[in-house]
Amino acid sequence: MQPKKDVDAKPYVVRVLELPTHRRFEIGPALVGEWLKGMPMRDVLGAPDPDPDAGDGIAELDLYADPTHVFASGTFDGKFRVACSRCVEPMAIEIHEKLRVTFMPASEMPDDDADAATEGEDGEEVPADDLDVFPFDGERVDLEPLFREQFVLSLPYAPLCREDCKGLCPQCGIDRNSASCTCEKPIDPRLAPLAGLKLPS
Ligand SMILES: [Zn+2]
Ligand SMILES: [Zn+2]
Repeated sequence: MQPKKDVDAKPYVVRVLELPTHRRFEIGPALVGEWLKGMPMRDVLGAPDPDPDAGDGIAELDLYADPTHVFASGTFDGKFRVACSRCVEPMAIEIHEKLRVTFMPASEMPDDDADAATEGEDGEEVPADDLDVFPFDGERVDLEPLFREQFVLSLPYAPLCREDCKGLCPQCGIDRNSASCTCEKPIDPRLAPLAGLKLPS
C-alpha cells in the first residue's frame, strides 16, 4: 500500500472501486498550455502564460476493469493553437480520436519502469504501441498522461495554416498571404559581381 497522497484530488484520477463507469473529462487551456510548453511551433506564438486560448479537450470514456486491468474506451475531441510553420500566424489543430487504452500493473509493462509512459525513454524497451498501454497501481488510474499525449502527438512536425500557405518573404518578412512586396529573388552570390554589368551589345 502506498501512503495516501493528494492524488485523489487530481481531476483525471479514477478509482478502480468506482468502475465500471462512464465519465466525461474536460481539459482546460491552462493545462493544455502547460503540456505544449517547449514545443517550437507553440513557443514562437509568444502567447501569455497561462494562455486562455491555448486549447481545450473533452474525453468521453467508458471505464471498466477485470481483476488486474482497467480499460478505457471512448472518444477524445479537442483543439489547440500553434503557429503555422510557414507564415507563423496562429492556427488551430483539431483532435478527433477514438481511444482504446489498457492500464496494467507496472510490473506487467513490457518495460517495468512505472513512469515509462510519461517519461522520455531511450527508445529500446518502450512497447511498440506505447500510447495504448499505461501503468497503474491497482487502485486508481490517472488519465492525465493519456490526455496529454492526445495533444502532444497531434502536433505535426511542420504545421500549415493551409495547404498552400505562401509563408513569409525571406527578404522583408511580409506575410505573402495577405500582402505583397516587390522584393526580388536574391541573386546567386556567385553571379553578384555581374549583376551591375550591362553587357555590350
Ligand atoms: Zn501559414
Ligand atoms: Zn519582400
